[in-house]
Amino acid sequence: MAIATINPFTGQTEQEFEAHSEAEVDRRIAAAQSAFEALRQTTFAQRAEWMRRAAELLEADADELGRLITIEMGRPIKAARAEVLKSAKGLRFYADHAEEFLAPEALADPSAVGASRAGTRYAPIGIVLAVMPWNYPLWQVLRFAGPALMAGNTGLLKHASNVPQAAIYLDTLFSRAGFPEGAFHSLLIPASRVEAVLRDPRVKATTLTGSEPAGRSLASIAGSEVKHVVLELGGSDPFVVMPSADVDRAASVAVTARNQNNGQSCIAAKRFIVHADVYDEFTRLFSERVAALQVGDPLDESTDVGPIATESGRDELEGQVADAVAKGATVLTGGFSPDRDGWFYQPTVLTGITPEMRLHLEEAFGPVATVYRVDSREEALAIANGTTFGLSSAVWTTDAEEEEWFTENLDAGAVFINGMTASYPELPFGGVKDSGVGRELAAAGIREFCNLKTVWRA
Ligand code: NAP
Repeated sequence: MAIATINPFTGQTEQEFEAHSEAEVDRRIAAAQSAFEALRQTTFAQRAEWMRRAAELLEADADELGRLITIEMGRPIKAARAEVLKSAKGLRFYADHAEEFLAPEALADPSAVGASRAGTRYAPIGIVLAVMPWNYPLWQVLRFAGPALMAGNTGLLKHASNVPQAAIYLDTLFSRAGFPEGAFHSLLIPASRVEAVLRDPRVKATTLTGSEPAGRSLASIAGSEVKHVVLELGGSDPFVVMPSADVDRAASVAVTARNQNNGQSCIAAKRFIVHADVYDEFTRLFSERVAALQVGDPLDESTDVGPIATESGRDELEGQVADAVAKGATVLTGGFSPDRDGWFYQPTVLTGITPEMRLHLEEAFGPVATVYRVDSREEALAIANGTTFGLSSAVWTTDAEEEEWFTENLDAGAVFINGMTASYPELPFGGVKDSGVGRELAAAGIREFCNLKTVWRA
């Protein structure tokens, strides 16, 4: 894939970029190594000061950066600006909490291990390679970079090839904020050159947010090098609506949960599993509200849904919906690509999904919702858990016993009750099954790339 900004609203290439030479990549790895030697000697207070400065830089650039995100990947402008501000908040969160999350712990009874003193402390490990997707081009990167740098690690970013200007902005953000030169750099390279970077002995670990094939490939290389890996992969999150739910509110939240970011969010609700008692009301409200979404120019403040980020992504959705319709699914709204420039796909609601349809098991990475009708909570759970994914989930119920039953039995990295899944710096984020391994955010996220060192003293 060319390293280029191709505006999904117009389909036009705005700017192409040369990949870094091998010598330049080597120079950046060497800079990251030297920066690590310097950074590991700094205090939390010093790193927090630089991190807060990085947050201020983001906030000062929010309008310009929001526009850049919208032009590179089509995210509606209001949400794009909000992504910049959320990223700044994430950096501040780690500036405030890293020291507490990585505080040494002492064994209450060291005599049990024959010591006068024993416990653990967290040490940084060195350079971490981050392979990142285009769908939240700042937030995905910065929720890795904030904790990594606060722990004293350094980062190298291989960003998605269709968001090179976001990568270039991030390349200098941390050095502008005061971190040692080389503490965080972007590598403008295609996916085919990731392997060589990961096999470099100076690179100690890796994290990838993206598709399952990319994750499997990276993890197998990391495995052969015995390097730690965190994977945040795809999802096909269930959104279960039970009879006791506030159906009107569930239907409104469902519209946002499926269509935000033009439907291209890993934690979007993708499969709506609705009890027969409230199925007719939910599907009517949901499809009416999806049909009312304003689709158009993502730079227009009133647009709800912009284009799909890439032409191939749009074609994939078309193929998935055509397959379902050919096998008997019913289209309640949408179901087509509008006849206009750019890579639009009309927000769509489908019912009558059967197991032989691709959409039953595959992730739909765009504004396409499937609705299932179920007669019991057991049937709802079987469908919810019936894919290879396990990222997050949502359940709408006001029955406390039912809430506990779903929370216990859903095979997912998170369960949201009477709300939609979102990521928060304060809460761990990650999946089970083919949705990934490891966690980002909160204390768990910063500890992923640390050496938990046991210390024993006679
Ligand atoms: P993708 O093709 O896997 O791309 C993600 C990143 O991986 C890009 O930087 C890409 O580089 C790189 N890449 C692709 N193949 C690779 C390989 N074989 N080896 C090393 N690097 C490789 O993902 P996408 O389709 O753009 O993104 C959408 C997917 O990401 C969806 O499945 C979505 O659910 C998932 N996602 C998950 C999370 C989460 O937190 N769980 C968050 C956001 C998105 P190039 O661009 O150069 O190909």
